[in-house]
Amino acid sequence: MTAAESPRIVIRPRHEILGVEAGMPGYRRGCKCTPCRAANSKRMRDWRKKRDVDAHPERYAEVPPLVPSDPPQIVRIDQLPPGLVTTALAEELPKADGAYPFQRTVQAMLTKSALILDNADVLDRLDLVNPMQIRLYAGLAVLNPGNGAQHDGAFDDEMSGLGVPE
Ligand SMILES: [Zn+2]
Repeated sequence: MTAAESPRIVIRPRHEILGVEAGMPGYRRGCKCTPCRAANSKRMRDWRKKRDVDAHPERYAEVPPLVPSDPPQIVRIDQLPPGLVTTALAEELPKADGAYPFQRTVQAMLTKSALILDNADVLDRLDLVNPMQIRLYAGLAVLNPGNGAQHDGAFDDEMSGLGVPE
């Protein structure tokens, strides 16, 4: 009689001997056959997963898509509401008198820069605050008599004295 023919050599799973279903019923009755152990592994895996989800729901929360679903809005700078800077500039800007070229161009650039500066937070372009401030200062210096196109050299004289020991 060979081993294969011997009924005593055939290993029957415990669940089969006990007449219970393979899987968790078999595993609970002490069966360690592959399907019963696999069922228990899955049960433990699911239990650990549920425990983790309950403890850290934020890790499993639905992540919103990175790309906003709304199409990007076109911003018309001229239609932005004037704020403190634009309002003050409009009051203080001298009338273009043609004393030197590009007065109106500089004034238009200043007005546009002020609008951007006033609305940088709404536009989500806070990176533009500093450049627009610098542009405004530069433009105001040009419009200010004694500076820019009309400067009389006093600024240069002043600057030339800097750094020279007295
Ligand atoms: Zn089993």
